[in-house]
Amino acid sequence: MTYARSLAYFALTVMAFMSLAGEGRADNVALEAEVRKRSAAVEEKLIAWRRDIHQHPELGDQETRTSRLVAEHLRGLGLEVRTGMARTGVVGILKGGKPGRTVALRADMDALPVKEPEGLPFASKETAQYHGKRVPVMHACGHDAHTAMLMATAEVLAGLKDDLPGMVMFIFQPAEEGSSLFAPATGKSWGAKLMLEEGLFEKVKPDAVFALHVMPGPLGEISYRSGPTTASSDTLEITVTGKQGHGGMPWDTVDPITTSALVISGLQTVVSRKARLTDSPLVVTVGTINGGTGPNIVPETVQMTGTIRTYDDKVREQAHRDIRLAAEKIAESAGARAIVPITKMYDTTVNNEALTAKMVPVLKRAADGRVTQAPLVGASEDFSFFAKQVPGLYVFLGVTPRDQDPAKAAPNHNPKFFVDEESLVLGTRTMASLAVNYLSAEPK
Ligand SMILES: [Zn+2]
Ligand SMILES: [Zn+2]
Repeated sequence: MTYARSLAYFALTVMAFMSLAGEGRADNVALEAEVRKRSAAVEEKLIAWRRDIHQHPELGDQETRTSRLVAEHLRGLGLEVRTGMARTGVVGILKGGKPGRTVALRADMDALPVKEPEGLPFASKETAQYHGKRVPVMHACGHDAHTAMLMATAEVLAGLKDDLPGMVMFIFQPAEEGSSLFAPATGKSWGAKLMLEEGLFEKVKPDAVFALHVMPGPLGEISYRSGPTTASSDTLEITVTGKQGHGGMPWDTVDPITTSALVISGLQTVVSRKARLTDSPLVVTVGTINGGTGPNIVPETVQMTGTIRTYDDKVREQAHRDIRLAAEKIAESAGARAIVPITKMYDTTVNNEALTAKMVPVLKRAADGRVTQAPLVGASEDFSFFAKQVPGLYVFLGVTPRDQDPAKAAPNHNPKFFVDEESLVLGTRTMASLAVNYLSAEPK
């Protein structure tokens, strides 16, 4: 090829890459190739970190060992590090060599009060205090993988520092699953919300935030949704108070047990008769009911607890009103009284539609085309609070071993939940690719 022709060919190739990327500049092509190489090179360390964290899981707000490991690693990479946010959270700032925007990447560090079965050479034998009780602890939601992948992402991106336009904020958050130190009804904040209350986004406000969650699914497949993705979650408590008396003479009592049965039925109609289910789903579940001491005694009170899930703030507020009204008025009609405190736990995680559309091509390249649409998820995510402050994108990574059927794999929070470590490099590559592509793109 002549010089002019090869130059033209080069320009065409770059343009093709640029249109493939859906971005305005060619920087991301070179950076993305580097990300791929460096993510593969960090694999051995990445797996070692993951196993170490897996073997030493810590409950929400007790992640002292994990956060020390993270902070030392980030300092070693030359990042600006802030520790002790929201008790045990760690935040690292990587300043690129060129001016640009700021992107935040988030991992959660906490484990669950679940007993890990024997088998893995790095299985957990840890126990810890959970709301005042000693319990076994296991990384049964894969946050060990998230922490290790974000440590690896920090290493990959720190190596590209000079060519990076803008800044990367690495958020290692505690207590995604809630605090192990206190119950939610105390009104205290934890995790992402507490980090924000402590000013996480005050000095440096990122322009976008990304996170990834491992779950059963074809190995290395990324799935995502645009818009609402995980549910809001609120805890419902109902105390029905009647008038205690003899079970043989119920007419002299006000029976909170039969009243509670009516209340539970009434709550079903909040979902089936009141909610516009074709607009947005609503779930109301009563999970516990306790009352009574003997077969021939009408008790004074019955206590129930449950959960409310929605994907829309208006549906959420309306559901709270309808649930309170149904419970209070049904109890009143029986001559009893219902008190219905509802504690807001997590918001709906909403993936920003414009950001999602821009980043889907990046996900496709990172996962070699294996990207699918995810269904609405009934679980909730602390990431929702970050994504409410700045445009966010939260995606899922399939981690089921190739010789197993993902549909039959144990779900997150199950003692048999299993992460195939082959997925970790891909997760790292995905997070790092999202960051470099976002920073390289022309701001709109
Ligand atoms: Zn979980
Ligand atoms: Zn989780």
